Amino acid sequence: MDEAEFRYSNGIVIDTEIEKERIEDVLKHEFTHSQTYAKSTFGQLFMMLDKNALFDERSRILRDGLFPYLSRMQEQVAINVELLNKCSKEGIPAYKKAIEDLKMRNNSYYNHFRKLCCINGRVDSGAAAETLADLLENIAYWALNVDLSQINFERLKSEKDIKRFIEKPENIMRFSPNKRFDLMVNHIFRNNNKSDGISTLIEDLDENFFDIERIHDEAMKALEKIYVNNPLKARLLRRADSIGAVGIPETEGVDKLLTQPMNLNDSNKLERVFLSNEDEFINQLNSSSTRILYVMKNLRGFEDIQALAFRSEENDRKINHIFGFQDDNHKILFRILNRIEGKVVFYNINLMYKEWKSVRKIVRQVPIYIYMDVPLAYYIEKINKMFFGGKYTYIQEEKKTIFAVEKKSIVLFANIVKDAEEVLDGKLEMGKIRKIPPADFPNNEEVTVLDHICAQYEEKLPR
Ligand SMILES: [Zn+2]
Repeated sequence: MDEAEFRYSNGIVIDTEIEKERIEDVLKHEFTHSQTYAKSTFGQLFMMLDKNALFDERSRILRDGLFPYLSRMQEQVAINVELLNKCSKEGIPAYKKAIEDLKMRNNSYYNHFRKLCCINGRVDSGAAAETLADLLENIAYWALNVDLSQINFERLKSEKDIKRFIEKPENIMRFSPNKRFDLMVNHIFRNNNKSDGISTLIEDLDENFFDIERIHDEAMKALEKIYVNNPLKARLLRRADSIGAVGIPETEGVDKLLTQPMNLNDSNKLERVFLSNEDEFINQLNSSSTRILYVMKNLRGFEDIQALAFRSEENDRKINHIFGFQDDNHKILFRILNRIEGKVVFYNINLMYKEWKSVRKIVRQVPIYIYMDVPLAYYIEKINKMFFGGKYTYIQEEKKTIFAVEKKSIVLFANIVKDAEEVLDGKLEMGKIRKIPPADFPNNEEVTVLDHICAQYEEKLPR
């Protein structure tokens, strides 16, 4: 069973079926992934390629080609930091029990843990565990910060090209995070002579090495080489530019707002039906049983493309009916909104944040809903501005909490983990948003129904 996933530029999702006692540890694990990806050249480039893989085959090929060179060290670091963190917070007996539990629960993670016995075997106190976890993360940053400017990306066209290039003896220590990680761990924790080459590798450490802007620029430059002659180059670079650039403040608890609960092990498959005609789409929507229009979010780099959807269920089939079109300045979107009789749910806050006054005039049925399918951590400021002086509530469910906030008949809702409530309370003080009981929240039952539909139609990544 999957407990959670770090979804690169889309944050962390955590399974709603997870045991409560596991949440804190699982979050630490995924947060370690997110940090080491974001603060390294190799990690950022990987996330950029992943973000563009949806639109560009070359990006997908390179992403899949690079993955084997960082996946092992990523898991070794994440599982060890997870357990070391447990030790520093709860002490040695809890740590020993967590190791035993891991052995029972997940053999492959247990092996990743055991492989670093030269590190975790030195734990004799909570304080030692904390120091070792820090050191381990720093080794990971070093291993993942390869010099991308030395890679001739123009020539790497297939997964085989990547393998051939990285695995050359003169390249593997320079460009494979897995190998670099092993080398540094051996150098620091094991007294053997295999780490001869390390001093030349450490020479490239200077004060700029961990500079986040330098890291981002270097990944972007590599990407520019990859997209030479690509007709989508400008769009793809624009999409990638958001990776790693928006820094997440590392305040206490922010990992909880980076996380969304989701049923990861739901086997229900979504079907998609694409419609190509505006009238056909509207007629079918208006005669569907629920008559709810979903306005999908505009994707960065493809802001001029708009997709709309409505959902239907027949027997066990869940069908997403999609209509996509080119739309400058939302002209067509507004025309369609004007012809819709039912409710409207916007995905993501961005479009409504800019256009809520226009939309409010056109849409016939209020409230207008906004569903956040991305982590709230990135949108606190916008929520505080848009809902300034409004009210919010938490609707408690068995496996998750629905957060809902309202002002002037615009309602935003999102799924959060229970532990995030306290963090969010603090963040919403800035917008003077008032907390009220769920029973007093307008349309609270409809929010719950819509939330369940939206959560069911989450795309599950094939990974
Ligand atoms: Zn992991």
